[in-house]
Amino acid sequence: MSAARWRGGWWSAARACPSPNFGPRPAGAAVTLAIVHSISLPPGDYGGNEVERLFTNRLDCDAHPYYAALRGLRVSAHFFVRREGELVQFVSADDRAWHAGASAWRGRGNCNDWSIGIELEGLEGQTFEPAQYRQLARLLRALSARYPIDEVVGHEHVAPGRKADPGAGFDWPGLRRALRRRHPHLPFALERKT
Ligand SMILES: [Zn+2]
Repeated sequence: MSAARWRGGWWSAARACPSPNFGPRPAGAAVTLAIVHSISLPPGDYGGNEVERLFTNRLDCDAHPYYAALRGLRVSAHFFVRREGELVQFVSADDRAWHAGASAWRGRGNCNDWSIGIELEGLEGQTFEPAQYRQLARLLRALSARYPIDEVVGHEHVAPGRKADPGAGFDWPGLRRALRRRHPHLPFALERKT
């Protein structure tokens, strides 16, 4: 674990699955936000390679009725945490991945410019696995060692009314405790408004 390191914006603890869906960050844009998402394809089915296919433009959109709406979509995230905790990286964290869409946080728009996108394999509103929280906390610690990240939020918080992931099943207080216990300087996670 201690051997994991950054090579440019790629973290060696993740399995690299490079996506063409990215661009440069604007000059001078510091990465200060981490955005947590959830995804599974088809929704609620875990363990397949469809998410990797979606983020690399190789999803067979005829394979499932749900995929028809995904045809032609060009999206990505920096990281994907599978149910058993495996970590996949699609885009260098130095670059701009296409995960948040129309978004704003604390009055600042275009969150993709200045954030890291982390997808958890899951279904919005449902719970996530302990192995995913462990990997997420480890990843956030590594990211914070390289980037000036000061907040971790959900997609639902930067695109309210449009996006609902990761949803009510995500344990924000638990993530915050996990981060503070091991690294007191790390970002806090947003408390869910109930
Ligand atoms: Zn999302």
